[in-house]
Amino acid sequence: MTQTAAIGPRSSEPAEPPTFRHFIAGEWCDSTSGATFESHNPADTRDVIGRFQQGTPADVAMAIRAAADAGAMWRRTPAPKRGEILYRFGALMAEHKERLSRAMTREMGKVIAEARGDVQEGIDIAFLMAGEGRRMFGDTVPSELPDKWAMSIRQPIGVAGIITPWNFPIAIPCWKMMPALVAGNTVVFKPASDTPHCATLLVELMAEAGFPAGSVNLVTGAGGEVGDAIVDNPDVGVISFTGSSDTGRHIATRAGRKLKRLSLELGGKNAIVVMSDADLDLATDGILWSAFGTTGQRCTAASRVVVERAAVEPLMQRLERRARTLRLGSGLDESIDVGPLINAGAVDKVAGYIEVGRREGELVLGGEPARDGELANGHFFSPTIFRDVMPMDRIAQEEIFGPVLSVIPVDDYPAAVTAVNQTRYGLSSSIFTTDANTAFRAMRDFETGIVYINAGTTGAETHLPFGGWKETGNGHREAGHAALDTFTEWKAIYVDFSGRLQRAQIDNQ
Ligand code: NDP
Repeated sequence: MTQTAAIGPRSSEPAEPPTFRHFIAGEWCDSTSGATFESHNPADTRDVIGRFQQGTPADVAMAIRAAADAGAMWRRTPAPKRGEILYRFGALMAEHKERLSRAMTREMGKVIAEARGDVQEGIDIAFLMAGEGRRMFGDTVPSELPDKWAMSIRQPIGVAGIITPWNFPIAIPCWKMMPALVAGNTVVFKPASDTPHCATLLVELMAEAGFPAGSVNLVTGAGGEVGDAIVDNPDVGVISFTGSSDTGRHIATRAGRKLKRLSLELGGKNAIVVMSDADLDLATDGILWSAFGTTGQRCTAASRVVVERAAVEPLMQRLERRARTLRLGSGLDESIDVGPLINAGAVDKVAGYIEVGRREGELVLGGEPARDGELANGHFFSPTIFRDVMPMDRIAQEEIFGPVLSVIPVDDYPAAVTAVNQTRYGLSSSIFTTDANTAFRAMRDFETGIVYINAGTTGAETHLPFGGWKETGNGHREAGHAALDTFTEWKAIYVDFSGRLQRAQIDNQ
């Protein structure tokens, strides 16, 4: 069932990169296009990880047909039995954690410690959702009529279209596929074209865990071709997407025409507030981790620090001093703090925002691609800090998705709240303060789906709901039992054992 997978450091005499295939109806197969595309190591683009199938709408149609066919049996498999396969998959991921993590760092660039965390998130959600196989709770409630029973149960929707980004190439697909599958749906999975190898390794393990043929299908290829074909197909009942706002809007428009269930997770412009009573060393730790971890390419990354004026200078001193010591390089080296950006387009995008930032604030650190020595063949960008940024400046409003931090001074707590909330996004926020009253006000006042007290803006755990307010999404949540709401239909059931016709709202007066 497994394919030949080349993992590990590039050899000095590179062999021909391996070719990987779609996974449809339990078989590894080539695309009808006959074409492939390459995936590269962003830390050294000479390192070609492999060739992947350039999917077509015909490939997608086959995958959806396979998923629909498999669904007839899978939805009737008892949910605890489905959960047992998720347990096996979680255990297999744990067994292969280091291999998956190294493959992720090589393909996507995040430093190895973070890659291990990404895989661990996948394991955690597999185990959590495996348990849902034995819970999957609905309500049993009294009826308003005598001798009548009322309850609600969850049922699967059918085929789920799973479209994922490159920044959490194991965790995000697992966050979507685990609840979909345990609830009895089957899936067609289209990963980002920057991380098809991670997706392939994941699906290999899913096949090994025992998900039946057709229940999990992988189609690689371009968003416009493969993604649109998934969204448009009438046999796909629910779509779960994480990525850019532009693509999210595009998908929502198309899915809306067909009145499809759609869960969107579209990113943020997350802020950390630092009050003058805060532990500034702790705040510095939280800011550096949230701003420059994953090279700023997390939807929960902190790209704004809103600081009470009295704390600006001491915080800036700490931030600058510590940020200068961050080491850039290949994330496979355990001593590296910051890996590359995902691709050349991302470097251009970040560089464009640096020019915007120079007009809006004062550049105090970084501000350019890093190309010295071993960095020459990668997409590296220096950790960058702007100070004296205003809340409505473009660099404080638009998602840059890179290692760029804007420091925004404010007079007091009310001004901090205004700055935090003055954005079209609402994913994550945090506050550093030693005043319990201020902390509780922040929990109440910040308009985000996730709030951290005395921690950075990243660090979601899989058993709590994940998602955001406003344009971060469309109201759905991933993770926790809330994730099941995306992938199930509610069915209300009434059982009348009175032996006579009882009319609700009429015969109970
Ligand atoms: P995209 O939104 O383009 O990509 C995300 C996923 O959507 C990929 O699988 C992509 O496929 C797919 N896709 C692209 N076009 C379509 C389409 N027409 N129909 C269906 N699926 C489609 O994000 P990018 O990778 O281009 O990143 C750009 C920006 O998006 C980032 O700089 C960042 O601001 C934001 N972003 C936010 C993320 C988050 O976690 N919230 C994650 C990733 C990006 P393919 O890879 O083949 O193009």
